[in-house]
Amino acid sequence: MPRPIQATIHHEALRHNIARVRASAPDARVWGVVKANAYGHGIERVFDAMRAVDGFALLDLQEAERVRALGWRGPILLLEGVFEPRDLELCSRLGLWHSVHCDEQIDMLAAHKTQVPHRVFLKLNSGMNRLGFAPQRYRAAWARLDALPQVEEISLMTHFSDADGPRGIAHQLRVFNEITLDLPGERSLGNSAAALRHAADPAVRGDWIRPGIAVYGSAPDYPEHDSAHWDLRPTMTLASRLLAVQALRAGDTVGYGSSFTATGPIRIGVVACGYADGYPRHCTTGTPVLVEGVRTQLIGRVSMDMVAVDLTPVPQAGFGSEVTLWGRAGNGALLSIDEVAHSAGTLGYELMCALAPRVPVVVA
Ligand code: PLP
Repeated sequence: MPRPIQATIHHEALRHNIARVRASAPDARVWGVVKANAYGHGIERVFDAMRAVDGFALLDLQEAERVRALGWRGPILLLEGVFEPRDLELCSRLGLWHSVHCDEQIDMLAAHKTQVPHRVFLKLNSGMNRLGFAPQRYRAAWARLDALPQVEEISLMTHFSDADGPRGIAHQLRVFNEITLDLPGERSLGNSAAALRHAADPAVRGDWIRPGIAVYGSAPDYPEHDSAHWDLRPTMTLASRLLAVQALRAGDTVGYGSSFTATGPIRIGVVACGYADGYPRHCTTGTPVLVEGVRTQLIGRVSMDMVAVDLTPVPQAGFGSEVTLWGRAGNGALLSIDEVAHSAGTLGYELMCALAPRVPVVVA
C-alpha cells in the first residue's frame, strides 16, 4: 500500500481564480503563467481548467511542447525567450511568442533563416534589473527588431518588482510609459499583484496581464492581504493521515533535537508527511495544521517522512485520522498555503513548486 499522503488539484478553484483575476483587469487578455510545471501543480493536470485563459506563458521549450501536445492552438509565450539559435527553429515550429531581452537574442534572430516570421515581446528593464533592455537602449533594440524580415510582430513588456508591496509600481510604470509612448504593439506589464492591486489603471492592465500565483489561489501580497480578501480559492490540497498516536507526560520531548518538551500530559499525532514530500523543514512548533478539519499546530521539528501534531483540540482523532497540511479539509475547512509558508519564512510559491514527485496527485 502507498503511504497515506496525497495532493489534490482543484479545477473548480482554478476556474474561479481565473475568472476572479480576469474581472480585476477587464478588457485585458490573460496569459496564464504555467512555468515551473504550473507552479508545481503539473501542466497536464491544470490544463483543462486553464483553457479559460487566452494564452499560456511559460519558461522553456519543453513546457511549450507539452502545452501544444495537449491540443492548445492558441498563444504561448516563452517568458525568457530563446537561449540558443536552434531554439528559434522550434519556436517557429510551435508558433510561439518569445520574449527578447538582450542583444544576443536579436543577433540570433538576425541570423535565423526561416519561412515563418517570429512574434516577440521586447522586454524593458524598467527597474527590476533581472531581464530586459535598459531604458536608454530599448528603442534601439526595437528599431533593430523592426528592421528584421524574420520578425513580423513586436509587442512590449516589462515586469514589476514591487507590485505586492509598499514601493508599488509607479516608478516602473512611468519608465515604461515614457519609453514606449509612441511605439506600436500590444503591451503586457502586470503579474498577479499588479492585476489585483493596481489594474484599475488601464495603463497597468495593458493588453495582456500575466497572473501566476493568483490563479493558484495564493494572495500575492500575504500577509498584508490573504486569499479570502482577494476572493481566491486554494487550488492545491496536501493531505495525509495519522500513522501513530503518542501519549506524552510532562517533560517528554518530541522528534529530532527534542525541540518540543511537554509541559503536561498531551496526545500527539504522527503524520505521514515530511520534508521529502515537500513540506518545509523550516516549519516548527506553532505552524497551523488541520486534523479532521480542526485547526491545531505542528510540534517539534519536521523529519524527512513525518511531522508531529498536537491532538488537544481533536480528542477524537486517532490512527488514520485525516490531516490537512494545506488546502481544503474533508469538512470544508481551509488552511491557506500562504499561512503555512509564512510560518516557514517563505512564500506559497515555493511550497507549491516544491511538492515532491513522490506525492501522488489527483485532480478533482
Ligand atoms: N511574468 C513574469 C515575467 C514572471 O517572471 C512571473 C513570475 O515570476 C509572472 C509574470 C507571474 O507572477 P505572479 O506569479 O506573481 O503572478
